[in-house]
Amino acid sequence: MNCEKCLAVMTEEESVSHSGMVVCENCAMDLMSPAKACDPWAVKMATGSFATKADAVASLQGIEKELYELIEGGGRVPSEDVHTRLGVSHEQVKRAFSVLRHMELLRGDRRSDGGSDLVLFD
Ligand SMILES: [Zn+2]
Repeated sequence: MNCEKCLAVMTEEESVSHSGMVVCENCAMDLMSPAKACDPWAVKMATGSFATKADAVASLQGIEKELYELIEGGGRVPSEDVHTRLGVSHEQVKRAFSVLRHMELLRGDRRSDGGSDLVLFD
């Protein structure tokens, strides 16, 4: 199947229903981001209130912090494994990743098998 937004090939498992569209995880994150105005980290990042990346990392809490530390320690973690490693729901991981991606701390890296790994942004 294909993402209805970017037309990327994806498996049914990777597909996300959002606003009546079936899209890939990347597009779902993009679609969800406008609703993140109430998220303190996203807002701080958007307003540039972090002077440095170290400041941004130091401000992380909860799942965002756990997710960042998991990737920082593991280097590369398959996106589909993250929620079991952290013991949280897939949705919670997506939300946390969306924040960390906006903060340019983590990014998704596509694998040759079509899945993606989460890696440090740089
Ligand atoms: Zn897409």
